[in-house]
Amino acid sequence: MSPPATGVLPVEAGVSAWDSFFLPERLFASVEQDESCDVLIIGGGFAGLSAARAVRLKAPGARVIVLEALRIGEGASGRNAGFMIDLTHDLSSEDYGGEETRARHTIQENRHAIAFALDAAAEYGFQDGVMARSGKVNGACTERSMQLVKRYASHLDQLGEPYRLLDDADMQRLTGSAYYRSGIHTPGTVMIQPAAYIKSLALGLQAQGIRIFERSPVARLDRSAGLVAHTRLGKIAAGRVILATNGHVRAFGHYANRLIDVTTYASITCSMTDGQSRALGGSDTWSITPAAPHGSTLRRVRGPLFGGDRIFYRSVFQAIGLEPASPAQLAHSLQEHIKGFNRRFPALRGIGITHTWAGRLCLSRNGASAVAQVAPGLITACCQNGLGSVRGTFNGIRAAHIALGLPDDLTPYGGEQPSRVVPEPLLKPGVNAYLSWKRWHDRDEV
Ligand SMILES: Cc1cc2nc3c(=O)[nH]c(=O)nc-3n(C[C@H](O)[C@H](O)[C@H](O)COP(=O)(O)OP(=O)(O)OC[C@H]3O[C@@H](n4cnc5c(N)ncnc54)[C@H](O)[C@@H]3O)c2cc1C
Repeated sequence: MSPPATGVLPVEAGVSAWDSFFLPERLFASVEQDESCDVLIIGGGFAGLSAARAVRLKAPGARVIVLEALRIGEGASGRNAGFMIDLTHDLSSEDYGGEETRARHTIQENRHAIAFALDAAAEYGFQDGVMARSGKVNGACTERSMQLVKRYASHLDQLGEPYRLLDDADMQRLTGSAYYRSGIHTPGTVMIQPAAYIKSLALGLQAQGIRIFERSPVARLDRSAGLVAHTRLGKIAAGRVILATNGHVRAFGHYANRLIDVTTYASITCSMTDGQSRALGGSDTWSITPAAPHGSTLRRVRGPLFGGDRIFYRSVFQAIGLEPASPAQLAHSLQEHIKGFNRRFPALRGIGITHTWAGRLCLSRNGASAVAQVAPGLITACCQNGLGSVRGTFNGIRAAHIALGLPDDLTPYGGEQPSRVVPEPLLKPGVNAYLSWKRWHDRDEV
């Protein structure tokens, strides 16, 4: 059989603020000649870099190469909202809850991933502020989402997980906004500066001898004689390959008609002046996910890694496949962000927005990840279902264990695979109809 060629190479739309706020002096090379290694990892996001670290921990002598198509930190892993959530966070649910036994396992796995990330930060000496266990709040703006907060609280009661309920006055004290009517604070979430996290992790791995190449897209993976990845200027022969390319795994011939790509959008304000900061009030930093999953995610961030004192805003989900968002789609999302922002922060109306950007999530209909040995020596670590910071980390670790021939026993659900979805051209319109309905339903949370 002729080797699969990668059809669509990744391209991102808009420069993420996180990427431009963290520009370390040391950079990564691109592939310029033929190389060989024991384990090749394609994709340098949460999944790929975690797989690299897990290989290093379990097989310190293994020769590992990571290839990233873009710059390290430029892809989705460096352009997300930065919530490493320890609890269940199923975007397709009404309230992020879920069945109890499953939820307990998911939380255990998420915490395993967070501990792995914190250990890396300690070992590689990440700068202060890259990661902080500050917890987060699910914020409710309507009567309906106040009910969701209550439902989520009973879910946490059932699991014996700690939380603190917030009323409208608490929410205003926290955010400076009178728009939120209630909230629920859970303490286990670690907030990150996403691009700083990814670049620092890659730099730490590189210092330990893992070879990391950026701007080195794999155009073809040849399986006719061993495993050979072809880049523009060189090919890499590998004993094992881990595909950590999220939705782009289909370009390598796997998981066709099983994955759903959803694009979402983010914007960030310019740094507030002292006067604006006083007019806003509230705490120095805070992190809010919407009580209704289709609402908006907000953060107030502060410090040199965040370009001053700013508010980050994420909303809008769209199915546009693996293509980058168009300038018109970015402009439309910016308008949506400004509307939602003004509703929440009338005192800051007119504040400048410095960056708007887009990025992709990869979801499956049944919530399963795409982690498996899909051909001899070829392992996937994809489909993180919207919580890629922790699920990507966890799946990267699992893929490394599979690649090294170790038991895949970190989860009892390892055998699950993404279920089938309707093929294109029906998939995108179907998903968009669903997303539009959800957005309309949660319109006051957006
Ligand atoms: C705006 C936004 C907000 C989000 N907020 C959060 C959040 O708060 N918390 C959270 O957990 N998740 C969040 N997510 C989702 C999260 O970013 C993703 O789930 C996560 O990045 C997936 O990690 P990954 O390593 O599997 O894939 P990716 O981060 O997509 O990494 C895969 C990498 O593979 C590379 N690649 C693809 N094809 C090739 C090829 N042929 N050759 C070489 N390299 C290739 C890509 O360039 C990419 O960098 C958000 C996403 C967005 C866009």
